Amino acid sequence: MLKITPYLGIFVLIVSIAGLWFPLLGYFLLLVFATLMITSIFRGRWFCGNLCPRGSFNDFWVSKISRSRKIPKSLRSFWVRVPLLALMMVFMGYRLISTQGIINQIGMVFVVMCLMTTTIALIVGISFSPRTWCTFCPMGTMQNIIGGHKYKLHVDDSKCINCNKCEKKCPMQLEVHTSDHKPDCIKCGRCVTACPTKALAFKN
Ligand code: SF4
Ligand code: SF4
Ligand code: SF4
Repeated sequence: MLKITPYLGIFVLIVSIAGLWFPLLGYFLLLVFATLMITSIFRGRWFCGNLCPRGSFNDFWVSKISRSRKIPKSLRSFWVRVPLLALMMVFMGYRLISTQGIINQIGMVFVVMCLMTTTIALIVGISFSPRTWCTFCPMGTMQNIIGGHKYKLHVDDSKCINCNKCEKKCPMQLEVHTSDHKPDCIKCGRCVTACPTKALAFKN
């Protein structure tokens, strides 16, 4: 299984900061959107746990300064997430129309979006847990809706000894072994590696 690397997180800084001077860097986000949309059809939120630059930024960089506390349940609520997704779509749509098709200005719309979301991710990541932003990120919500039922993590109850080691490792703070319904599982595989009895496995 592909493991997320710390180096991907550098792209977040490059686009958010250097993009202010070189707006064309914003188009990198289009590549990210396209990849996550395609992978979500087959593997749900796999992109979040294996390829997302901001996921890497949160895991490897924000984690060094995070207070590592419990993520508030309210942030996972679809009453928060779906309106946020809709708001982001409307806001992006409005800003893109205002550019009147000027290439540099379109790039700047993506750069500003990246900078704004990175700032929020940093604030909530420091205040709670590194992956807090990923519990309500509009792109995560989109993947949850498209493919949340794909490539599920299954628990073999006959092997599980309820040691809870899996939950301690889960960056999304999910109920790893007590529930089979985990559309927000980012398929990072950390729980699978941590399980001493090999009770966890992904299945399509
Ligand atoms: S939830 Fe958003 S920021 Fe987090 S890993 Fe997924 S796409 Fe990236
Ligand atoms: S349940 Fe396991 S694979 Fe899914 S996010 Fe948590 S640690 Fe990663
Ligand atoms: S780590 Fe494995 S054995 Fe322990 S609670 Fe999780 S699934 Fe069960």
